Amino acid sequence: MADFSLDQLPDLPLDLWVGGEERTASDGGRFDVVDPATEGVLTAVADGTVQDAIAAVDAAHAAAAGWAATAPRERAEVLRRSFELMTARSDQLAHLISLENGKALVDARGEAAYAAEFFRWYAEEAVRASGELMTAPSGANRIMVVRQPVGIAVLVTPWNFPAAMATRKIGPALAAGCTVVLKPASDTPLTALLMARILHDAGVPAGVVNVLPARRSGAVVSAMLHDPRVRKLSFTGSTEVGRILLKEAADQVVNCSMELGGNAPFVVFEDADLEAALDGAMVAKMRNGGEACTAANRFFVHADVAGEFATRLAERMAALRVGPGTDNDTQVGPLVNQDTVAKVDDLVRGAVAAGSRVVTGGARPDGPGYYFEPTVLADVPHGAAILREEIFGPVAPIVAFEDEAEAIRLANDTEFGLVSYVYTRDLARGLRVSEALESGMVGLNRGLVSDPAAPFGGTKQSGLGREGGHEGMLDYLESKYVAVTW
Ligand code: NAD
Repeated sequence: MADFSLDQLPDLPLDLWVGGEERTASDGGRFDVVDPATEGVLTAVADGTVQDAIAAVDAAHAAAAGWAATAPRERAEVLRRSFELMTARSDQLAHLISLENGKALVDARGEAAYAAEFFRWYAEEAVRASGELMTAPSGANRIMVVRQPVGIAVLVTPWNFPAAMATRKIGPALAAGCTVVLKPASDTPLTALLMARILHDAGVPAGVVNVLPARRSGAVVSAMLHDPRVRKLSFTGSTEVGRILLKEAADQVVNCSMELGGNAPFVVFEDADLEAALDGAMVAKMRNGGEACTAANRFFVHADVAGEFATRLAERMAALRVGPGTDNDTQVGPLVNQDTVAKVDDLVRGAVAAGSRVVTGGARPDGPGYYFEPTVLADVPHGAAILREEIFGPVAPIVAFEDEAEAIRLANDTEFGLVSYVYTRDLARGLRVSEALESGMVGLNRGLVSDPAAPFGGTKQSGLGREGGHEGMLDYLESKYVAVTW
């Protein structure tokens, strides 16, 4: 499918998806979706208003009781069909992701497969929402705990994994018996709209999944969080916006799950298998061109091997083929938009001005397209902004350390706590350091942690709650305790 265009998706909705059908925005508004490789307009989609948001909650409300009462096995079958249809259309989905997000097809294919897996996993989990039964310690009664769907869920997702961040929420929500309104990122609404079509075709009843592209995201999400029928917010995005939404959700005490920003350390000890560490570094840094919350953001390498690591990482980074994501041989596509590439450029310039050495890359090629060269920076000074902020681009800053205690201190010196990576041949050290690292996830001799069967999430200011695994469904269930005498 080398010459992919939107014409090949005649069933792609370009309007709001509410109550199982397409609707134009209440004020007729639309907004453009831009191709990051050319800066040209791909198409325009309906721009949801506050009135549309309430209409979407109406639709989710109308479907809620029926969906919650649907047999778990039936909900499981619908999710299983969603997995199968998504898998059958994974090539189209990958091209669409690549077109609107910019990521290389190889990454988009990986995402399409990963995203579909959440439907398979939660099809399997839907029939396992068990409760508890015990005798009260006093012996006076039984303690019975049942798990019930939390209610209508508002799902807000980012542009960097437009399919997977949506399915990681829709899968467990539907398995638990909740109905949802999804507000996708404005840079990437098309992927979410195609998924609305796929879920509809798989038999998801009208109103169970509603998709509301909206550029006025603040007003639209706020209106839903102040509607008393909404009981759940699941947000994936920046910590900055997460803080705003936690405050908004406080007004109606809405249950919140938050997957926020990261600043992942990638620690390489002197005894590490360096070849394996380089393989892991390329995945942890370059999956999605660096636009991942799990992206290695700070490389801490033991002083004995830091020079060799920097040289060899730079060789690999310099060899990457940069180009439009939809070209089959591209390994690194453009970043998603102008702001993102400008931020990466600022961070690199700041790091260089502070004394970092450019080992490879370091610049923005001439346009069109939001490209940035794969870059390695060595000798990055401790105070540099690039070590505090999420880079979200193809840049690897390297800092040398002297001993284990210093590595742990440096790695934990951040308000974020999503994921950490550790490379060592000494398993005892690896486990000791894994325990000491302040993050929700650790990749030990691995550059990739994401797995639909594992609890994904952060500590500190990287988030609240977990997505994926058994825990992911608990975020959409509430415990009801019945004290019973029989
Ligand atoms: P963002 O916070 O700018 O936007 C995320 C979503 O929130 C989008 O849908 C956006 O339209 C919406 N939004 C923005 N302002 C809002 C407001 N005031 N009220 C309501 N909604 C609002 O994030 P982004 O730039 O789309 O994505 C990148 C960020 O997401 C990074 O910080 C990255 O680390 C994070 N992320 C985290 C995870 C995770 O699982 N922890 C996964 C992927 C991305």
